[in-house]
Amino acid sequence: MALDLKQYIASIPDYPEKGIVFRDISPLMADGAAYTEATNQIVSYARERNVEMIVGPEARGFIVGCPVAYELGVGFAPARKKGKLPNETISASYSLEYGTAELQLQRAAIKPGQRVLVTDDLLATGGTISATIEMVEALGGIVVGTAFIIELTDLKGRDKLKDYDILSLLKY
Ligand code: IMP
Repeated sequence: MALDLKQYIASIPDYPEKGIVFRDISPLMADGAAYTEATNQIVSYARERNVEMIVGPEARGFIVGCPVAYELGVGFAPARKKGKLPNETISASYSLEYGTAELQLQRAAIKPGQRVLVTDDLLATGGTISATIEMVEALGGIVVGTAFIIELTDLKGRDKLKDYDILSLLKY
C-alpha cells in the first residue's frame, strides 16, 4: 500500500512569522521510504512527459529535482539566487511580500527545444516557479510540466501557472 505522505509533513505555526503555518518537508526527506515514494511519483509524471532536463530553484527545488533527474538519467540545472553562478547567466525577478528577488540560470543549462520539468518543494503564490519558467523559456526550453511536493491552494499559484501542467503530491 502507498504511504500517506502527508504524515511526513511537519506544520509549524507562526514560522517564519506570526500567523504563517510553515509546511516543512524535512521529515519526508529524513525517511527513506517516504522520500523514495515522493520521488517515484514525480518520476512517473516526468516519464509520461518525456522529460529531458530538470530545473529547480534554490534550494529545495534541488532536493525534489535531483533524485528525479538521477532516476531518469537526465540532467539537472540549478536556478540560483543572484551572484551564485559563474559564466553567462540570465535573470528573472519576482515579487516577495516585501520587495523583489532575482533568480539566475546559466545560459548553457538549456538547449533550445529541450523538454524541461521544473521542480520545487512547494507552490505558494507561484512567483518563484514563474521566474524559473521564464528563464527556461528565454533559453528555448519547453516546460512540459511542473512538480511540487506541496501546493498551498489558498495562495492560488495554480492561477499563475494556467498555461502549464502541474503535479502537486499534497494539497493544503
Ligand atoms: P511562491 O513563490 O510564493 O510560490 O513560494 C514558493 C517558494 O517559497 C518555494 O521555493 C518554497 O520553498 C518557499 N515557501 C513558501 N512557503 C513555504 C512553506 O510553508 N514551507 C516551505 N517552503 C515555503
